[in-house]
Amino acid sequence: MEPQGNPAQHREAGRLAEAFRIFNQASEELAGAYTSLQEQVAGLTAELAMANGRLKREYEEKAALTERLSLLLDTLPAGVAVLDAMGRVEQANPAAAAILGANVEGRVWDEFADSCLEATSTPGEAEMPRRGRRRVAVTETRLVSSGGRIVLIHDITEAHRMKTQAARSERLAAMGEMAAGLAHQLRTPLAAALLYAGALENPALPQKERARCGSKVMERLRHLERLIRDMLTFARGEATGGETIPVSALVAELVQVFEPLARVRGASFTVSDESRNAAASGNRKALAGALTNLLENALDACGASAGGHIELRAEAREGMARFLVRDNGRGMDAATQARLFEPFFTTRAEGTGLGLAIARGVARAHGGGIEVESVPGGGATFTLALPVCAAAVSLPPGPFPTSSGEERCDRVAIL
Ligand code: ADP
Repeated sequence: MEPQGNPAQHREAGRLAEAFRIFNQASEELAGAYTSLQEQVAGLTAELAMANGRLKREYEEKAALTERLSLLLDTLPAGVAVLDAMGRVEQANPAAAAILGANVEGRVWDEFADSCLEATSTPGEAEMPRRGRRRVAVTETRLVSSGGRIVLIHDITEAHRMKTQAARSERLAAMGEMAAGLAHQLRTPLAAALLYAGALENPALPQKERARCGSKVMERLRHLERLIRDMLTFARGEATGGETIPVSALVAELVQVFEPLARVRGASFTVSDESRNAAASGNRKALAGALTNLLENALDACGASAGGHIELRAEAREGMARFLVRDNGRGMDAATQARLFEPFFTTRAEGTGLGLAIARGVARAHGGGIEVESVPGGGATFTLALPVCAAAVSLPPGPFPTSSGEERCDRVAIL
């Protein structure tokens, strides 16, 4: 049955019913939105939990790494100092304090090094005058990210002492061998000198013969003198001095000494210097002597026939200065090469066989060495290598012409 009542009430009831319907629809939509929001919140919470877990793991891994690194730093026998971009020590391990005898944290490293470390003739090694002259090796590495540096300090006092002792023992052992060889070497010229001197005792000896015997005695005695001088040089072992020796200056000195010798013997001599501004540290006279010996041997290997050619080349790379002495002489076989550096090994009648033994001793005393490459009849190349010292200096151009201002000078002299 249709409700009875006035039409106004009827319309009001209809609007109310419509309002309820709209309200119901809106609340259903809201409920839907709320559910979806809840789902999103749940998703985000799960993601956050995962991210938190990852972060926690990363944090724990980093903490473990830091712990491992600090443990490593604390137990390392080498000293480690970490410098900031201004060169101030941010962190130093206990070994650094023990080796340096001071806590360097907070100090400017270069100032500390200047006041407590004294450079030695070996690059990268220093002595500590206030710590009983203990010897340390110091290496620095740049930290690209922070602009700072890591300084690694090793106490090499013992290693250095043992190295010096080993070098001395090696020299003593070589001297023992040498003493035996020396007796033999001295006997022959001495016997010859005695023989000629004995002949001089004869009053009836004609004047011309007397002069010939006299000069033979002198010749043999000079040979003996050379032998003794070379042996003393070898025995001394040429202790290195602390001179800074620009490679180019050494090359210039060698050219000055060797050019006239090559000219007299009719050999051509080429010099090329690509050492730039490199410098070595040590005993200039000893090094010049060793290199002159290589050049003289090269000249001797070329013999008296024309066409002899000797090349001297200096170069510097990878922290080493190299002097190459190349000749186109007789060369040598493997057996000769194996004995080259033995004291008294010589194939020359007038040789003492000490030149290369001394040259190698000098090169080794400077932290370097000598190598040889040769084939019989194909010439020889001797390479004397030396470490370049840190204090390389800027040089005026050498005494021979430089090509268009480049730091290189070549010279070809047909002498
Ligand atoms: P010495 O010059 O008194 O003989 P060294 O020790 O200088 O003594 O040389 C030893 C030997 O090495 C020489 O006698 C020679 O046989 C050989 N030798 C050295 N340099 C060369 C060279 N450039 N070419 C060929 N042989 C060489």
